[in-house]
Amino acid sequence: MIARVLVAFAAIAGLSALGAWLARHPGTVSVNWQDYTIETSVGVLLAILAVAALVLAAIVLALAWARALPTSFGRGRREKRRRQGYLALARGLVAVAAGDAGEAQRQARRADELLVEQPALTKLLSAQAAQLDGDDGAARRYFAQMLKQRETEFLGVRGLLTIAEHERDAERALALARRADALRPGTTWVVEKRFDLEVKSGEWRAAEETARNALKRKALPEARAKRLRAAVLLERSRAAGADGLKDKALVHAEKALYLDPNFVAASLRIAALLVEAGEARRARKAIEAAWAHTPHPLLAELYLRLDSESDPLRRLKHVETLAALAPDHRESHIAVARAALDAKLWGQARKHLKAAMAHGLTSGTARLMAELEEAEHQDGAAARQWLARAADAEADPGWLCTQCGAQADAWTARCGHCGAFDALDWKSPPRVAALAPAAAAEAAAKALPAESTAPPHGGGANSEAPKAALPAR
Ligand SMILES: [Zn+2]
Repeated sequence: MIARVLVAFAAIAGLSALGAWLARHPGTVSVNWQDYTIETSVGVLLAILAVAALVLAAIVLALAWARALPTSFGRGRREKRRRQGYLALARGLVAVAAGDAGEAQRQARRADELLVEQPALTKLLSAQAAQLDGDDGAARRYFAQMLKQRETEFLGVRGLLTIAEHERDAERALALARRADALRPGTTWVVEKRFDLEVKSGEWRAAEETARNALKRKALPEARAKRLRAAVLLERSRAAGADGLKDKALVHAEKALYLDPNFVAASLRIAALLVEAGEARRARKAIEAAWAHTPHPLLAELYLRLDSESDPLRRLKHVETLAALAPDHRESHIAVARAALDAKLWGQARKHLKAAMAHGLTSGTARLMAELEEAEHQDGAAARQWLARAADAEADPGWLCTQCGAQADAWTARCGHCGAFDALDWKSPPRVAALAPAAAAEAAAKALPAESTAPPHGGGANSEAPKAALPAR
């Protein structure tokens, strides 16, 4: 401010000094142009020149201002449109979240008109609004347009994937899941989706690779990724076995067990393959290792098959060695009781059956008690009583689907009934026999799916079933 005042003062002082100097040194200027002659003093000429310069400067400034005017006016207008466009976008997204298809589409159209420089965002809204309206065709068009830009490609792929799944186009869905995985490697939902689709289409080798990558990239929790891969490997082992490739079947099963040491279906598979191959020593070692943490009646059966040639007493001795690895487990007691019955050692059989029943009465143990009463005392009445109890007791465990409750003869990676992956668990079916017969069937139908999904799905097969009351003796 002060500087400006000083400049003004200096200018005024300069001009006054110039005026005074001109007054002291008068002179005339004459201009001759064709027939005209203009004569004037130097002071007047200088004044005319100064005025002309001022007018010229004013004209230049006015022109510059006039030129800038529409630009700034246009900028204001664009700013306003953009604000309104984002507002429409926000309202549209809220409408999508609220499930209001009509409002979503209205706002999508508005956002599309107003936000010309953000086609990606408005396309996403338009696509979601179309999907909400059930118009998969329009949604597909919008999503497909999003594939063309790198920034929106992933969103486009994701949208097309949901449509492909909606239309049950498994092949297309899998291709899109793989594209999404390539765009953003290690994204958890993408990995899960890809794995799920590969499993559903029976691409076991690809599914195993996906689970392996998930573990490497930490896309899934370590234990889960390992279990998924183990279950796939066991399925590959089944497939190799069916193709007659026994060695390959064994390698896959061993890898599965290495990934999840408590995977009883893998232990069973290894034991069965070794017994079948006549590798008694390896089979015995494998069964004993599994028995220590997951005793299983089928393991005991395979163990007994190893020396089916030898005499019952020798077999009992072997089974006792096995049982000693999990001394108070129900399956240990049942296995020894079974072998003792064969060896006609009634006292020992009774002792172990009692110990097994302390874990809850199952129809299997009740049937063994009936066999014992019949064999030891030829007591038909007592045997019949035990058989009646067997009908009421907790059913023997089997492979049950934790998703739909269906029972399976053998472990498979996918439930044969509902298709759920790695859902078969070794456990007792829910008890329904104790209910009145008519109500029982109805209750069973209702309770089965709900009850069967209730327990968390673990890898173990020796899940403890609810304890049944011991029969009065
Ligand atoms: Zn199922």
